[in-house]
Amino acid sequence: MILPIVQADDPVLRQPARVLRPEEIRTAEIRELIANMKETMRDAPGVGLAASQIGRAIQLAVIEDRSEYSKDWTPEQLAERDRRPVSFHVIINPKIELSSAKAEFFEGCLSLAGLMALVPRARQVTVECLDENGQARVIEAHGWYARILQHEIDHLGGAMYVDRMLPRTLMTVENYKKFWLEKGMARTISELANRHER
Ligand code: ZN
Repeated sequence: MILPIVQADDPVLRQPARVLRPEEIRTAEIRELIANMKETMRDAPGVGLAASQIGRAIQLAVIEDRSEYSKDWTPEQLAERDRRPVSFHVIINPKIELSSAKAEFFEGCLSLAGLMALVPRARQVTVECLDENGQARVIEAHGWYARILQHEIDHLGGAMYVDRMLPRTLMTVENYKKFWLEKGMARTISELANRHER
């Protein structure tokens, strides 16, 4: 079942999500929630969806970066973003550690439909979490996958990318395509950084 995705500033998006108890994880209710979130994420489409975004303040998110989502990107653009496909998986009760090295790229969110902004994010992360079977997992991620993890784990803490974006870089996806896409990332970042300094 495709679930409605709540939009900013629905209170649930600003509420820190509660930890799931181990005995809750394998219940029919949570399994059904995961299946519905997977369907909702694919329908959107998006590369991640936190439970808060469908109105449930629990520490659970689904992630999947399918190769078809990157089919319009050049190999150079994919290399620049350090982006490669990530198979579907579930993170529950995550704890994240960030590298100090950062990268800036445009980021969007299904709960801020039609908008994007430049967001600095750690290039590498280590995430300790449980999977959908309640098994402990350690995820070492870099590049775009690390960005997705940071974005989804932010949601579980009640944060959104607009809290971390570079001020004055918020734009519609339409205007990004119209004014910035052709310029490439290096020129875009430097022009937007100048805008920030003025
Ligand atoms: Zn989001």
